[in-house]
Amino acid sequence: MALTDFSAEEQIAAVVAGETSSVELVAAHLARVEHDEWNSFLAVDRERALARAKEIDGLATRPPLAGVPIAIKDALSTRDLVTTAGSKMLEGFRPIYTATCVARLEAAGAVIIGKTNMDEFAMGSSTENSAYGPTLNPWDLTRVPGGSSGGSASSVAARQVPWSLGSDTGGSIRQPAALCGIVGMKPTYGAISRYGLIAFASSLDQVGPFARTVRDAALLLSHMVGRDPMDATSLEWTEPIRVPSATRLDGVRVGVIEELMSDGIEPGVRAACQSTIDMVEALGGTVVPIALPHAGYGLATYYLIAPAEASANLARFDGIRYGHRTADADVLLEHYERTRAEGFGPEVKRRIMLGTFALSSGYYDAYYGQAQRVRTLIMRDFAEAFAQVDVVASPTSPSTAFRLGERTADPLSMYLSDICTIPISLAGLPSLSIPCGLSEGLPVGLQLAGPAFSENRLLEVAHALELAIGFDDAPQGVGV
Ligand code: GLN
Repeated sequence: MALTDFSAEEQIAAVVAGETSSVELVAAHLARVEHDEWNSFLAVDRERALARAKEIDGLATRPPLAGVPIAIKDALSTRDLVTTAGSKMLEGFRPIYTATCVARLEAAGAVIIGKTNMDEFAMGSSTENSAYGPTLNPWDLTRVPGGSSGGSASSVAARQVPWSLGSDTGGSIRQPAALCGIVGMKPTYGAISRYGLIAFASSLDQVGPFARTVRDAALLLSHMVGRDPMDATSLEWTEPIRVPSATRLDGVRVGVIEELMSDGIEPGVRAACQSTIDMVEALGGTVVPIALPHAGYGLATYYLIAPAEASANLARFDGIRYGHRTADADVLLEHYERTRAEGFGPEVKRRIMLGTFALSSGYYDAYYGQAQRVRTLIMRDFAEAFAQVDVVASPTSPSTAFRLGERTADPLSMYLSDICTIPISLAGLPSLSIPCGLSEGLPVGLQLAGPAFSENRLLEVAHALELAIGFDDAPQGVGV
């Protein structure tokens, strides 16, 4: 086995036991990062990564993450390291500060190896909206890795790194995790500081981990959660995140979301999810069908709220403070218009127009206001469900990885990729996707969600199921 085949946890143990060093680990992963046939990476930080690894190897006491490398979605600001959010608008942009969650991981001894490809400003479900070309799925190079955090997901599936960070607004961690056959988690809204995360839709955006095991995802999460004075929506975290070890589900009530196990879901996806749900009782748990009567309005609600917030957040890209600046404008208004026309791609422009319309005077209450009311109904559906069950389960994505180009011409078919993840985002709940099998050779993800702050229980349930499933996470040609 190569060093890159080991989980992060195993890599840490090997460093602590003196069997390898951070420099060796970083070099082994760099070799795969620099031979990037999947276009996972937008920037690689070779010199700094090796220097940091050397520093960590020289410490008398190893920090908890022991100098294991990590990749960071390009939506997260990294000081002096080019951060583009997949947009031409930020081509060559070097932030002057590092996102809090990234700084916390660095302080815990993770080594940043590079920045990963993504849909422009995290808008998309396939990474095809990146201004720097699409990322390819390591399971099948003719297919998308999902999105918007597609580069972070493919980098872990292709063993370029053992783990990475993504961001999830309506599904952008869970859906690519599902399509790439790895674990991806979006914690409770507010669990992780958004300071330094380039904003898409602020009431929905959350950072979270990708990894090949639930335990690795938990370990990464444990070092990021908690209040940050730089983000007023970040929360005090009283119960630390634990690395899970459960092998059984005794007493756990699993609710299966009926609306998300129906005709809109590919048969092969449903079958893989069902066979995992069928394991619950053998592990000591119970399965209860549950209904989320308003989940069907999730997509419509999301595509009012998210673009509305995005249109406000993206107003800052005016060509004056930072980012792209048009070369030829005579007056100020023309300067704004040209800068934005040149810097933003088509999907971002579509969202800005949708959002500006939904917020416009006379329409605000009919669209944005109404969407907020429906959001409350969706939250109540979940509250009622969690009066009966501990976690809910559904497919993560209605299909397996689709072909490059298959959905680019039809925005609505692309939007439907997130039909299973969006209701949970609107409710602000913690949720993760674990690989649960294959359908026609492509990975399928099972999505689990729980009440706010139930991360520890969710991780235990996911761990017990992960062991029972025994998914082989190596795409052909990758790893052992
Ligand atoms: N695909 C959804 C969108 O395009 C979700 C993206 C995300 O979670 N960042 O908005």
